[in-house]
Amino acid sequence: MYQGSKNSSLVLKELPKVRGRYLEDAPLAKYTWFRVGGNAEILFKPEDIKDLQDFLKHKNPEVPVTLLGMGSNVLIRSSGISGVVIKLGKGFSKIILKDETNLEVEAAVLDRNIALTAAEYGLSGLEFLSGIPGTLGGALRMNAGAYGSEIKDILEKAFVLDPLGNLHALSVDDLKMTYRSCGLPEGWIFVGALLRGVKGDPTLIKKAILEIMTRREETQPIRTQTGGSTFANPEGQRAWELIDAAGCRGLKRGGAQVSEKHCNFLINTGEATPEDLENLGLEVQDRVLKSSGVLLKWEIRCLGKSLKF
Ligand SMILES: Cc1cc2nc3c(=O)[nH]c(=O)nc-3n(C[C@H](O)[C@H](O)[C@H](O)COP(=O)(O)OP(=O)(O)OC[C@H]3O[C@@H](n4cnc5c(N)ncnc54)[C@H](O)[C@@H]3O)c2cc1C
Repeated sequence: MYQGSKNSSLVLKELPKVRGRYLEDAPLAKYTWFRVGGNAEILFKPEDIKDLQDFLKHKNPEVPVTLLGMGSNVLIRSSGISGVVIKLGKGFSKIILKDETNLEVEAAVLDRNIALTAAEYGLSGLEFLSGIPGTLGGALRMNAGAYGSEIKDILEKAFVLDPLGNLHALSVDDLKMTYRSCGLPEGWIFVGALLRGVKGDPTLIKKAILEIMTRREETQPIRTQTGGSTFANPEGQRAWELIDAAGCRGLKRGGAQVSEKHCNFLINTGEATPEDLENLGLEVQDRVLKSSGVLLKWEIRCLGKSLKF
């Protein structure tokens, strides 16, 4: 019987044989944009969807499962993550033109590659994805978006595994997607999606993508160790303006700093611990609350057990 998080070899006993790889006590920092964080008790890299389904079907249901995409929206605490962290790779990286206007994409494909492939096929409407540095799986979970478009606007169907490994095809309505959020229960896994474009001129689409990439370079600290927007924009307001007005631009705590370039981004200046970053975020939240009365909501997902509580 699984007794909760003790050590990786005990967790391993609760898991079935797989064709993919289990890594025990696996460091996760290198899988995140912040480049910080503790270890996974077990890191599982499934070979393909069948392998993942068998794993879900036969593992002890009490062992928790956490998905990791490109780690561009997560902050993993020093305590690490109990149970199994699943990282989808090669076996989930196909992207095909399904018909005139629909792309079938697997969950580990990078958002940027979706945009570029759509451009090759002369499909417009997916350009915004070129500026988002995650995978399709992460984009669906976060309902990622930019420049007035969100993944839900182009989503025809999402392919999802439930905690027992059964495959479902879900619509936008089923998923209850709202701004930077999706109603899919924890423990369910996106394995792919059918994305919709509209016919367009490939040259114009590529030009639009180039403009997005240039704009990103100019306005965001994309070459630093960061986690993207720390806080979601409150209704009708911009988080960065509230943070700026609260005097937080450039604020530091240990090795963590509020970006000078875009003050809704936290950056690891090199030596930050996850706690430096989280505490700096909490301090920003506090200062904004005092200066404007608005309680900012974290967009970054802090994973792992908090050392504070
Ligand atoms: C420089 C920078 C710029 C950014 N700009 C934007 C932007 O313009 N717009 C925007 O929306 N976001 C932006 N982000 C945030 C981030 O890129 C997006 O939220 C992205 O969609 C996260 O994808 P990921 O693969 O990195 O997911 P991760 O960060 O690895 O995970 C995010 C969440 O999704 C879950 N998850 C991941 N894969 C799956 C799956 N297959 N099934 C179920 N759950 C899963 C994870 O458990 C976690 O809860 C930016 C980040 C950075 C670093």
